This record gives sequence, structure tokens and C-alpha cells, in this order.
Amino acid sequence: DASHDIVIVGGGAAGIAVASSLHARDSDLDIAIIDPADIHYYQPGWTMVGGGIFDASTTAKTMASLIPRDVHWIKAAVSAFEPQNNAVILDGCRVVKYRRLIVAPGLKLDWNGVEGLVETLGKNGVTSNYRYDLAPYTWKLVSEMKAGRAVFTQPPMPIKCAGAPQKALYLSADHWRRAGVLDNIDIRFCNAGNVLFGVKEYVPALMDYMERYHADLMFGHRLVGIDGPARKAWFAVTDETGNERQEELEFDMIHVVPPQTAPDFIRVSPLADAAGWVDVDQNTLRHKHFDNIWSIGDVMNAPNAKTAAAARKQAPTVANNILHDMGHARSVAHYDGYGSCPLTVERGKIVLAEFGYGGKLLPSMPTWLINGQKPTRAAWFLKEKILPPMYWRAMLRGKEWLARPEMVG
Ligand code: FAD
Repeated sequence: DASHDIVIVGGGAAGIAVASSLHARDSDLDIAIIDPADIHYYQPGWTMVGGGIFDASTTAKTMASLIPRDVHWIKAAVSAFEPQNNAVILDGCRVVKYRRLIVAPGLKLDWNGVEGLVETLGKNGVTSNYRYDLAPYTWKLVSEMKAGRAVFTQPPMPIKCAGAPQKALYLSADHWRRAGVLDNIDIRFCNAGNVLFGVKEYVPALMDYMERYHADLMFGHRLVGIDGPARKAWFAVTDETGNERQEELEFDMIHVVPPQTAPDFIRVSPLADAAGWVDVDQNTLRHKHFDNIWSIGDVMNAPNAKTAAAARKQAPTVANNILHDMGHARSVAHYDGYGSCPLTVERGKIVLAEFGYGGKLLPSMPTWLINGQKPTRAAWFLKEKILPPMYWRAMLRGKEWLARPEMVG
């Protein structure tokens, strides 16, 4: 029939990596990637763009240049799933059939989830490293600011790269410190959650930096509205007893991280769990109810840190497990929940958080080289010089021996 052996929904970090991993294992497979985007982004680079370290253009490449040769690219958006027919439906109602399906469309940045935000993004001092076109504006604001109030927000979990909201704060504050204006700037970290970082071992090193930058930690503060021209933001604030009230805060600049959900077409599909994410077994990444479906990357519900580093580890697991299902691999592989978050605490130093399910520390480097619980120059060198080429040339090309998991943050 006209089915592909394997159809992959989404050609992001996870989708391209798993396509390449499958192709490297068996070049005879008929694989198709469905993705409407012309451009693929290396999103981990956007923190560095916002910090004035990377040029934005280095974080983008054409999709066509990344899809492995011999893999079909269906340039369209998926709108629905019909797992009982082994079919996905594209915008415009075209049907694509598969024998095995991998679901990897990432998550949805819900910019409309904050009232007034969309109208003012990219002006009035309102920015976000979560968008390619806005990360350079972060650096513009930071490098021009000499005094005033700078607000950094973090929405409820789960989000992709849970450390990114505070990374923006650290790199900005470090710039102000070097420029000699830090004492004139009132820094607020408005975090919807109640902890600085979800794995407690990394918190002391991060707290040291928050103190050094005299940043005010405002927990239980969820951004709900913004008025750019008036330079005002509103937060829903939850106190210890669970009561909610609204609080207003004026700003000169504000770095917003938007609320994040599963994409709408996933949320309403039969693949989703109650919260909207693709419902997988956290070890095998196989769907809990549909035997010929796997999922990978930010869209699924395994309780790992949603990062490219995690997708890097998941890709060979899923590739292996699909080949095993076809009778071409000896055993089923298990994903340990590895994810990594390189916290850019200052220009030149990183606290390299690496952990798996249950917050289990999974350091990949010997402690003498990188002690993840301390800021190190070696970890910065990794992030700045090693990880980007590793991502493009090894992870996305299925060269797993070159892209050790810890190398792709
Ligand atoms: P994505 O890479 O987002 O790709 C999703 C793809 O699916 C896109 O190409 C999209 O066009 C496609 N798609 C969407 N909808 C459809 C549809 N309906 N049909 C077909 N295709 C569709 N990770 C780290 O490891 N380290 C870091 O330091 C780090 N820092 C980050 C900093 C920032 C500011 C951000 C935003 C992210 C950061 N991340 C980091 C997270 C990392 O970028 C993501 O976890 C990773 O990209 C997830 O891969 P993915 O393939 O699941 O999703």
C-alpha cells in the first residue's frame, strides 16, 4: 500500500535526530517527516543571542538542509490523528498513512495566555528569548539600560528549558555588573513556582548569583497581563494559604517567558493524556495505548526536563525500539530521563545541571573537569564552542558516537 514505514510529525530537534538515527541504522527504511516550517532553529542558542554572545543567524538553518537525504519531506502541518486507520490528516485534509508513527511537534508557546502581551512584544521594553526575532531585542535593551527596574518572569511548569528564564536574568545582570550600573538596577525574578530550580543540588550555586546580582526573588508570581506603553505588568500572586490576589509592577524592561502547553492538535487528539501531552511509557517512549506510535521531545508526558539534550538521548532509544518492534534489534532500550540545563550564571561560567527521572544527578563529565554544582569555565566552553557544532553535525546527523548526550545542551 501507500504507507510509509515510519512517519515523523515534526522536524525539530527531536524529529530530525530520530529520523537520522533510524536512517543511520537502516538506510532502506521508507521514512517521511511532516513539518510545514522552512527554518529549523537551534533554540538553546537563543539564551546566548539574548546575552549578546551569539549572532541570531547562527541559530537558524533551512529545514531542507537538515532532513537526511532519502527521507521524504512532506511540507505541511498535521491537523489530526486517526490511529485506528494508521493515518494522520494534514491541513487541507490530505491523508498520510504509516506503519509506525513518531510524534514530535514540540510544545506550544501560548503568547496569548498573557493579556496584552502580543501587542507589545518587541517594543516598549518587552522582550523574550523564547522567539528568534526577539532574542536580539533582549540584548539591545540590556546593553542600553543604565538604571531602572528589570523584571524577568517564569510561567508554571512544565516549560522547555526550565532554566532559561533565569539564564536571561543572570546574563543581563552580569552585563550590568561589568558596565558598572548594577547598583542602579532593581532586578525582580517573578516566578510562578516556589523554587529557584527543581533539582535542589543546584540551588545553592544559583542562590549565590541571585544575591550577587541583588535580585529580588518573587515566588508564586504568575504574569497575567501587561500594558507596554504604560510599562506596567500584572501578576496573579498565590500566598501560602492558596489565596490569590492581583499585584501590579512597573518596569523599564521585562523579559517574558510565555505559558506553555501541548499543541492544540495534540491536546484534542486520542493520543493525549488528561493534561494534553502525548501519553507514553516513560522508559520505552512507546504510546501507552497505541502499539505502533512513539513520541519524543517536548510534546510527550515523560517527566524529564524538556530540553534538546533530552531529545538527543531519546532519539536513539526510540530508533532502537522501533527496529526492535520490526524484529531488527536485539533488545528494548530504556530512556533514563536524562536532560541537561546549562545555567549561564555569568559570561564565561556555567552551572551545568544534568539529571534524570526523579531528579537523579547524571553528571556526564568527571568532577575534576566539570563539577555541575559549581560554576565552571569548562562548562561555558562546552556551551559556547562545542555544543552548537555537536548539535548540527552529530545529533541531527545520527552520529551518536560523536554526540555524547551531555554534549548537546
Ligand atoms: P522543536 O525543536 O520546537 O521542534 C518542533 C517542530 O515541530 C518544529 O519544526 C515545528 O515546525 C514542527 N511542528 C509544529 N507543529 C506541527 C504540526 N502541526 N505538524 C507538523 N509539524 C509541526 N535545550 C537544551 O538542551 N539546552 C538548552 O540550553 C536549552 N535552552 C533553551 C533556551 C530557549 C530560550 C528555548 C526556547 C529552548 C531551550 N532549550 C534548551 C529547549 C530545546 O530547544 C527544546 O527542548 C527542543 O527544541 C525540543 O525539540 P522538539 O523537536 O521536541 O521541538
